[in-house]
Amino acid sequence: MKLAVLALGGINEIGKNMYVIQYEDDIVVIDCGSKFPDENLLGVDLIIQDISYLKENREKVRALIVTHGHEDHIGGIPYFLKQLNVPVYATRLTLGLIELRLKEHKLLRETKLTLIDGDSTLEFGSMSVSFFKTNHSIPDCLGIAFETPEGTVVHTGDFKFDLTPVNEEYADLHKMAELGKKGVLLLLSESTNAERPGFSQSERAVGKHIADAFREATQKIFISTFASNVHRIQQIVEAAEMTNRKIALLGRSMVNVVAVAEELGYLTIPEGMLIEQQEIDRMDPERVVIICTGSQGEPMAALSRLSTNNFRQVSVLAGDTVIFASSPIPGNEKSVSRIIDNLYRIGAKVIYGTGGATGMHVSGHAYREELKLMLTLMKPTYFVPIHGEYRMLELHRSMAESVGVERDNIFILNNGDVVDIQDGVARQTRHVEAGDVFVDGLGIGDVGRVVLRDRKLLSEEGMLIIVVSMSKTDGRIISDPDTISRGFVYERDAEELFNEVNELVISTIKEAKPSTRYRRNDMKHEIRKAVEKLLYTRTRRRPMILPIIIEI
Ligand SMILES: [Zn+2]
Ligand SMILES: [Zn+2]
Repeated sequence: MKLAVLALGGINEIGKNMYVIQYEDDIVVIDCGSKFPDENLLGVDLIIQDISYLKENREKVRALIVTHGHEDHIGGIPYFLKQLNVPVYATRLTLGLIELRLKEHKLLRETKLTLIDGDSTLEFGSMSVSFFKTNHSIPDCLGIAFETPEGTVVHTGDFKFDLTPVNEEYADLHKMAELGKKGVLLLLSESTNAERPGFSQSERAVGKHIADAFREATQKIFISTFASNVHRIQQIVEAAEMTNRKIALLGRSMVNVVAVAEELGYLTIPEGMLIEQQEIDRMDPERVVIICTGSQGEPMAALSRLSTNNFRQVSVLAGDTVIFASSPIPGNEKSVSRIIDNLYRIGAKVIYGTGGATGMHVSGHAYREELKLMLTLMKPTYFVPIHGEYRMLELHRSMAESVGVERDNIFILNNGDVVDIQDGVARQTRHVEAGDVFVDGLGIGDVGRVVLRDRKLLSEEGMLIIVVSMSKTDGRIISDPDTISRGFVYERDAEELFNEVNELVISTIKEAKPSTRYRRNDMKHEIRKAVEKLLYTRTRRRPMILPIIIEI
């Protein structure tokens, strides 16, 4: 194996992106995102990649290059670095956002962070790496080109083609074309919007709609968007300036990200325009805009708490305007609707809609024609669609075919699949370990299927603990069983049932064969079996039963 390209996350999912380029003994990792768990993963805080392959090849891993500062590209970095401390390369804003994370995890000191931009070049062994700027819903995004003796591999990062970007940072279209002209061996391109026909709209289109809504608002304005969408926040600032309103920020990530973006010069807020949240009440309602987190219905975020009047110091009143400058990510619709209902109940004017129906949101990801444009610019020999669910990857495949990539040269991967390229021929036959690793509190990967099954059982059926003391010498019952339950039945109403359980435990012990009685685990097993049967007959429920035998 000389050149290998593999995915450790980001395939068949939106989230926890991680791709790996290896040439001989040099490995470069691209992105290290995280993914939020769905409600089946009880108590799991975050999902990250299984990086066993990288740990096994620890001495070959040269760098982690990060394409941009979104959660699905940086969220796993602290956990990654705890397992594998490699130098991190990213642009200024991306590094600023990474630093926030590293500070939280107290990792800032021991991490080597290197600033790069669209013009940087890096060398790792016989791989030389260059970059091209792309447009997306966060500033400072890069695509990456890996020049190897075998040929050039290009990773697009997340992108769209925005010809009128808000910050006037134009994408390096000419550089992309140049790469294509020199010859691209393999292209990895994102597939998020492979289902959407046509071209995406420019972020600039949002500004006008925000300004219109601001002009019509008669009291306070609340506007919610992703904290990292610095371009949109800039346009909100401009609309606020135009309508002579001050700005307050609500939500920890909003405050943090705006501070970083402003400090690094990505966001310009006129002096004196930003006010503290405790000043909101003292302001004339017509003179204030509140930018807040929670546009995705996150239960702990500012907007959700505002909608139930659970935010100290600030409240939404009848007649206030609440704008969702966002579109719910599939899966979040329910919680977003709940917030909208609550806001209507208060009497607020709510501006919301999906897929940018209100004009307050445009996507940061390339639509179908843009994906084809990227493929046409790069003209790759081999193509690997990434960053998408399976159907998106399939659609992206057919688009690649439609612009001239050979069907046999397109690889739809699973996480862990390796594409090996030698003498210009690519093959996909190998697979390395990959999958979901759960983060819960301080634990990385210690919560697995077994723990989750228990949590699910507990959450659905509750549990019953039976404590009984037995003599070590003759197996006699020393004190009667004591039964405690949680989440199974309301104890006060179930006295009779519990008495029955206790009697059953006593008779089970008395009737047990001596050989069972002296083996604690066998005895527990017998008790569990008997009680399980009784409870099911009486209640049609199957709580988790935990017999505890104290030997005295
Ligand atoms: Zn992104
Ligand atoms: Zn992404």
